[in-house]
Amino acid sequence: MYIDTHCHISKEEYSNIDKLIEECNLKNVRKIIISGCELNNIDEAIEISNKYETVYLSLGYHPNEANKITDIDIENLKNKIKKNKKVIAIGEIGLDYYWSKDNKERQKKLFNSMLDLAEECKLPIVIHSRDAFQDTYDILKERNLEGVIHCFSGNLENAKMYTSIGYKLGIGGVLTFKNSKLKDVIKSLDLKHIVTETDSPYLAPEPYRGKQNSPINIPIIAEEIAKQKNIDIKEVERKIENNVKELFQI
Ligand SMILES: [Zn+2]
Repeated sequence: MYIDTHCHISKEEYSNIDKLIEECNLKNVRKIIISGCELNNIDEAIEISNKYETVYLSLGYHPNEANKITDIDIENLKNKIKKNKKVIAIGEIGLDYYWSKDNKERQKKLFNSMLDLAEECKLPIVIHSRDAFQDTYDILKERNLEGVIHCFSGNLENAKMYTSIGYKLGIGGVLTFKNSKLKDVIKSLDLKHIVTETDSPYLAPEPYRGKQNSPINIPIIAEEIAKQKNIDIKEVERKIENNVKELFQI
């Protein structure tokens, strides 16, 4: 089966979620992990995951929320995580210096409190890191957690540093873009370090670049990984299924 380890599904973006999940099944995309990472979308993500057997959840506060989140919000989130069996990871959490550089300390504080939560709940993490490689790496290195660097877009050295401390890399539509530097990174990386994701509704793969993305496109990404590594797509499918099983226990 194919697996989308990271996407954002909401009624606002997708008018017919029943149909979307049905189409995923037809394309053999049989596990979908939705990321609920903003104060105002976590409850909807929980609701959707409860409705569909194939939908799982990662919950956590995104760094772009850092100026808003209070201790009470963190307590509320913890209760929701403990109450919901579909929650299989904490995320997406991390640092984003692309959107905001003037609140680095607040972002780090939120990130660390999310890592504390992951340790307490014994769950893997899903990391968002944009223009913040070194700080993200330094913080993760101090912990003994496992997880995915979602939408990985760094160079081979960054990839090796993350994988050496036990993280997998989430690979999505960017890999299919013309001149994507990720192609060379993937060639040199063992499949055991890779999981597939779409980050829907963003980052649609070619030939749909710029359009609304959907978990249905996961086979396109798997096919590009197979092409770059010059292996059979079945091998990609099988190994990534294993990686996901091992990390998220699903
Ligand atoms: Zn995301």
